[in-house]
Amino acid sequence: MDDASGQKLNIVIVGAGLAGLAASISCALANHKVHVLESAKELAEVGAGLQITPNASRLLRDWGLGHEIDKVAAEPTLLAVHRYSDGKILAEEKEFDEQMRRKYGAPFIDMHRVDLQRILYHKALSLGVTVELGCRFSSIGRTPPAGPEVILESGRTIQGDLVVGADGLWSRCRECLLSRTDEPLPTGDLAYRIVLELDKITDPELRQWMANPQVHFWIGPHAHAVAYSLRAGAMYNIVLLCPDDLPTGLSRTKGSISEMKRLFSDWDPILTRFLDQVDQVDKWKLMHREELESWTNPEKDFVLIGDSCHPMLPYLAQGANSSIEDGGVLGRVLSHVTSKQQIPWAIRLFESLRKSRSEMIARETFHQRDAFHMPDGEAQRERDILFASQLGKEISIKFPSRWTCPEVQPWLYGYDARREADEAVKSQPCDARTCQRS
Ligand SMILES: Cc1cc2nc3c(=O)[nH]c(=O)nc-3n(C[C@H](O)[C@H](O)[C@H](O)COP(=O)(O)OP(=O)(O)OC[C@H]3O[C@@H](n4cnc5c(N)ncnc54)[C@H](O)[C@@H]3O)c2cc1C
Repeated sequence: MDDASGQKLNIVIVGAGLAGLAASISCALANHKVHVLESAKELAEVGAGLQITPNASRLLRDWGLGHEIDKVAAEPTLLAVHRYSDGKILAEEKEFDEQMRRKYGAPFIDMHRVDLQRILYHKALSLGVTVELGCRFSSIGRTPPAGPEVILESGRTIQGDLVVGADGLWSRCRECLLSRTDEPLPTGDLAYRIVLELDKITDPELRQWMANPQVHFWIGPHAHAVAYSLRAGAMYNIVLLCPDDLPTGLSRTKGSISEMKRLFSDWDPILTRFLDQVDQVDKWKLMHREELESWTNPEKDFVLIGDSCHPMLPYLAQGANSSIEDGGVLGRVLSHVTSKQQIPWAIRLFESLRKSRSEMIARETFHQRDAFHMPDGEAQRERDILFASQLGKEISIKFPSRWTCPEVQPWLYGYDARREADEAVKSQPCDARTCQRS
């Protein structure tokens, strides 16, 4: 089935976000022909900071992107959780950078989404991936005996052996898979997203915070804030998470700075001083989805990845990381495919590896909200006593901050997508029985 270039399957990916680009790289590395269709006319400067945890940075390094990423990332040396009102430290992990590399063999880094998307895009192009902009997916068709066919809004059709829906939270691919309309659901929270530039800040203490990469959380009643450096400290990302007051149907808008400052006015003075520097802010409604019964069609040649099937609260910073994991596993499983007949086996294996993990992470993000957003009172005092019992020690108990919890952190950050895929292929190889099962 190899064409003249030696490439195997024809893979069409809908969406050039982080999931689609990660999948395109991983599938191209598996020697498949990849065509990415993106609705945007240019890869827009959308988003703000992202925390990239070892489970994804490991893959990015495997793909040869470590050097380029290091140039634009910041690697935090401390992860601290503060009480909202006075900034008192509730939990902290020092030498965080060294600990992450030692425990997981890959770094924990912070970077701008735009930088990551640009790096992934150029890597995909260098591997021969075709990325077509201005192509809006409309539906999926099939003219037997050929495989699935993407139908664009323009009416153009693109034939593939496998179609991957990576079109994000508002996924049209998902609706096609379900054959019905299906809107994302509000989580009840929203995010104010802020990016500050070091050059524009004169306050020496704030400059010090920005230029020394660390991660800081402030946790309070029904809300929390997180701040970290980007671009080696030249930029600072702040996200404020609080109850959603945006009207139904409005998912993103320009935020009011005075309203934002009022909501956090009685928080730690260092945070409010940062907020005094803000001259523009975006307000994002945080949405999620119900878990799907399946991410694939019955023929197993159309599959969803990323936010189209597992959007989550950003409270563990895993949305992009698990989208990159999806891409890593998909390409690795498909590297074992040498004929079209093996696609259903590979897609079944992919789904069995990815669905339960990503859904569990999504559920965990809601537990993190409960633990971070406790109103002042008995439960909060008990939580803070638990925090205090581990200060200055190696944490040895189930911990309210899953970021450093000895049960959750290894499960999140220790995940090795490549190994998971290889082990699954070994234990469930494509033989006469597994390849023919419908
Ligand atoms: C406040 C906030 C903070 C976050 N922080 C983090 C973090 O620190 N770490 C982390 O891992 N994650 C974080 N996330 C989540 C992360 O941004 C997403 O999970 C991730 O970007 C999802 O990637 P995706 O490729 O699935 O979707 P997207 O990035 O949304 O990409 C989808 C792509 O599909 C295209 N598309 C849409 N419809 C069509 C169509 N019909 N035809 C063709 N193309 C189409 C879109 O234009 C877009 O380019 C955060 C999210 C928020 C809201």
